Amino acid sequence: MRQVSRNSSHSVCQSANCKLKAIDRRLSDLHLQWHDAEDAYFDPNAFRIAIQTCIQTARTVTFILQSNKALFPDFDAWYVQWQDQFRSIPLMKWMVDARNKIEKRGDLETHSDVTVSILASYLDHERVSVQVETDLFDSTQQLMEKIPKYALRKHVLRDGILQIQRRWVANDLPEYELLDAVAEAYGHLSRLVHDAHLALGLLAPDITSNVHGLTYDHEAMDGKLPCMIGHERRRSCDIWLATGERMEIETKLVTVSRAEAEKVSGRYDIDFSEVYSGANTPEETLRKLFDVARKMFLNDEYHATIAILLKGIIPVDIQELRPEEHGQKYVMAQMLADQVRRVGADTVIVIGEIWTAPFDPEQPLARAVDSSDKSEALSGTLVQKRGEPLRISAEILRGVDRVALKASTEQSGGAHNFFSPIYDVWGRAKSPSAEEAQHDK
Ligand SMILES: [Zn+2]
Ligand SMILES: [Zn+2]
Repeated sequence: MRQVSRNSSHSVCQSANCKLKAIDRRLSDLHLQWHDAEDAYFDPNAFRIAIQTCIQTARTVTFILQSNKALFPDFDAWYVQWQDQFRSIPLMKWMVDARNKIEKRGDLETHSDVTVSILASYLDHERVSVQVETDLFDSTQQLMEKIPKYALRKHVLRDGILQIQRRWVANDLPEYELLDAVAEAYGHLSRLVHDAHLALGLLAPDITSNVHGLTYDHEAMDGKLPCMIGHERRRSCDIWLATGERMEIETKLVTVSRAEAEKVSGRYDIDFSEVYSGANTPEETLRKLFDVARKMFLNDEYHATIAILLKGIIPVDIQELRPEEHGQKYVMAQMLADQVRRVGADTVIVIGEIWTAPFDPEQPLARAVDSSDKSEALSGTLVQKRGEPLRISAEILRGVDRVALKASTEQSGGAHNFFSPIYDVWGRAKSPSAEEAQHDK
């Protein structure tokens, strides 16, 4: 999975000699100061200084904008709408109060806490979180002793992940982690600065990745930068319960260049450009991709798990998911959902090999791979922000010296729990499915 790291992306103003460059630069300063606070997270004194600097800088963005009012044809009429909007956002009100406090009365009152949660499901409400009185450097064993026994069922012990997160919280803003609060405020200010460009007839700044040339979706990210989404994962320590070892998710970048695509096309007799351009609906895209996947699987006797992120029928990103242990998939599901938010994808297709078994109501959390009734399949699943999920699968038959695939079958409605974090991003409930089969690999 691809990680978005420090400074891998920026907001870039597209107007040469932009009239708003003082404001662009101040917003960019806030971004860099936010990373300074992130880097100082485990140094209480340095963090206090850095986060307070962020809060002060954030305030100056609107001051500079106001001092440039002469640039606007009718500044007051335009600005009053933003003032009204910001006044109605409790966080923005807190930012103003916090800045006044820092400059006139003294430091913010903050505390840090440690949250330990067990991740053994894709479903957020099944996550067991406990706030523990602990030191961040307590051993795993010490932490384990503080976790309620009921939380440690068999599958949890085998596949579960202990996520340890230290958080800084302002005493009068208990519902936010502090970096997150500043990131959200950055998002609001960045929306304002974008709109200021448009009000002057300038191009809005563009958010692109330095590394991959991806274009991110300002609106889907609520004005934040890609590095501000899922940032807590960069500080979380994931420990695999089965072994007590720290778990790392391999980051694997898949870029499919045109040349590579053509090389692959030649090997499999596939025209990739036709796959995307020839489809008029996401469902058709899935069908075409699945036909390609069948050819590749029969040729290679293997198919990697690939997630294709689309806006409608336009592919915007491709990620390879390569979990080594089942537990990593819970984290990957969250990481994939973060990427869906960053690029503003409204459609996701995941293609790969899976184990499948009939659903056993007696053991709702059992995994297909453990079932006596399991079979192997090549599977492609489509989920959408609007519209129903669709799954195409073909059973895999492994003979002595060759593999075969049964005919493809389609099933609409219902979606595997793996997609729950993506559904959360889209603000839609997982569509209920009475007889959901178990799938994993
Ligand atoms: Zn950044
Ligand atoms: Zn600009």
